[in-house]
Amino acid sequence: MPDLQDLKQRIPLLDYLRQRHWTARPAASRREFVGLCPFHRDSRPSFYVNPRKNLFYCHGCGRGGDLIRFVELSEHLSFRQSLVSTISSGSSLPPAWPA
Ligand SMILES: [Zn+2]
Repeated sequence: MPDLQDLKQRIPLLDYLRQRHWTARPAASRREFVGLCPFHRDSRPSFYVNPRKNLFYCHGCGRGGDLIRFVELSEHLSFRQSLVSTISSGSSLPPAWPA
C-alpha cells in the first residue's frame, strides 16, 4: 500500500477540480487560479487554488486544504474513504497518475 501523503500529492488538485466542472481563471498577478467556491454561496469568485502547492483556500468561508480535504468537505467522507473514492475513479485521473 503506497503512502497516503505521497499518493494525494501525485493528484493535481486543479485537474481534479476541473474534472468536476469547476471553472477557474488565472488570478490576477498570482500563480493561482480563482473561481466560485463550492462550499458556500459565492457571488464573486473567492476560491483560490495554488497548483504548485496543490492547495486551495476560500477567502469567503475560510475553508482550505489539500485534495483530500476538498473531497472530505465536498462528499462528507472520511479521509481513507475519500482517498479510495479518488483512486477508484481511476480512468478520470490525469495522465501523471502512475499506472
Ligand atoms: Zn467558500
